[in-house]
Amino acid sequence: MSSEDVKCSSKTKPLHFLLIPLMQQGHMIPMIDLARLLAAHDALVTFATTPVNLNRIRPIVDQAAASSLPIRFVELRFPVVDVGLPEGCESVDLLPSMDLILPFLNALSLLRDPLEAYLCIPDKDGWPKPACLISDNFQHWTVDVAQSLNIPRLIFHGPSCFLIFCDLLINRHRAELEAAVAAASDGFTMLQGLPHPIRISKHEVITLSPSDPDKSKYMETIRSAEEFADGVLVNSFMELEPWYFERYRKEKSKPVWPIGPLSLYKEELDVKAARGRASSIDNNILFQWLDRQEIGSVVLVSFGSIICNTMAQLIELGLGLEASGRPFIWVVKEVVDKKVPGAEEWVTEFEKRVERRGMIIRGWAPQAVILGHVAVGGFVTHCGWNSILEALTMGVVMATWPHIYDQFLNERLVVEVLKSGVAVGIEPTDYLDVENRNEAEVKVRREEVERVVENLMGGGEAGEERRKRARELGKQARAAMEVGGSSWKGLQDVINYVSEHQRKYQEANISC
Ligand code: UDP
Repeated sequence: MSSEDVKCSSKTKPLHFLLIPLMQQGHMIPMIDLARLLAAHDALVTFATTPVNLNRIRPIVDQAAASSLPIRFVELRFPVVDVGLPEGCESVDLLPSMDLILPFLNALSLLRDPLEAYLCIPDKDGWPKPACLISDNFQHWTVDVAQSLNIPRLIFHGPSCFLIFCDLLINRHRAELEAAVAAASDGFTMLQGLPHPIRISKHEVITLSPSDPDKSKYMETIRSAEEFADGVLVNSFMELEPWYFERYRKEKSKPVWPIGPLSLYKEELDVKAARGRASSIDNNILFQWLDRQEIGSVVLVSFGSIICNTMAQLIELGLGLEASGRPFIWVVKEVVDKKVPGAEEWVTEFEKRVERRGMIIRGWAPQAVILGHVAVGGFVTHCGWNSILEALTMGVVMATWPHIYDQFLNERLVVEVLKSGVAVGIEPTDYLDVENRNEAEVKVRREEVERVVENLMGGGEAGEERRKRARELGKQARAAMEVGGSSWKGLQDVINYVSEHQRKYQEANISC
């Protein structure tokens, strides 16, 4: 930490931040990075989540306890069984079916009672009461908690400003857009009001603005809780999407601070590798293997924390990677707990065939660290925002293979706006079709996988151009987080904002 950094203490008391993440890897991981970043700025940080999630991030919890970082983790009981969810389903990726996503989201407000009970007891470390609550935007119930504590509530947005702004437009013009996609022969229409031509399909319209009354009610609750927020933190950086940051600020009439890429928070390799969960592979073996590969030669293939491919698709993907002749690391979480029957047997056989050139990780990979290794040159991704940001940060080009939700719009940002990726060519599927999938379904044949990997890692002049662009974006991302960079300033502004609020609050109370 540089001496130029603004430290997080007012003259009298250090600032205390209370962080409430959404229990989903793609939301938890950046919030943990944020917690550690704030603590490194001398803030006191309380990170509250459920027992299963705390257990998953045990290496981080233990490391924080052993370090001098003023960060502590609080366990909130989450009574999932009481609302009909299976025991232990405390994270989105643990749900046996995505049909349970709504009951899971509706159950989040059950965290309010244990949080308030915790806040009522005298602080065991003698910390002052929180000066600010930073809540994932899905944790809408935190509005009332912040109000009762009389402190600012800032929301943390998982995705990019690009996505948030598209969401806003789609929601606003839902009826016209639905009519337009229904009338179009190819099922697409242009989303008006953006500086880039962006095509959207029925999938985007119904995902971001669902017609199902229960889903739409939930989305409305989140949107109205966002209106009550004092400010918004976005895991992105200004140079990546300046127009979208500006427009979003204007629309919301409240501060919107860029604070990312949070994955750049510096820490020892072992701790970084355990972001989210303990790695399923011995890191020494992994890095010795990577060290033996040529610079920029390896393709990483990973689909985030939730997406599961069908057995038939796994086979096509594996055979395509084999045929590409490129070295690769393939993260196959489908084998864990026999999620996809037969996958383990097939993967074991496949692994023997591609020995030396391919590495399989069964379960959880230290993704951000792998992407930062010089041997990695390309990334086949499902287009989760964190994965995109982690690749951009390291100057790695992407082959985009979206599956659901916001992933299709993220793909368009990478391929059409940022021009640092190639599309695998997935047609957006109807939302419901994805949930009731056919296990024999193949969306991308082996020949197509081979072609895309060749295009990604080679691709002639266009490929060179993409790599150049990716390197430039990587430089900008890293500069944003350096002292004086745009996201560094973003975090200082957050700290100053909270500090100022606390000062005014204290003055008002003294004069009373
Ligand atoms: N991740 C990881 N190892 C894995 C799978 C995922 O470290 O094997 C991390 C990844 O680096 C990212 C997060 O989990 O930080 C996934 O978030 P993203 O938004 O990319 O996708 P989601 O899982 O939400 O679909």
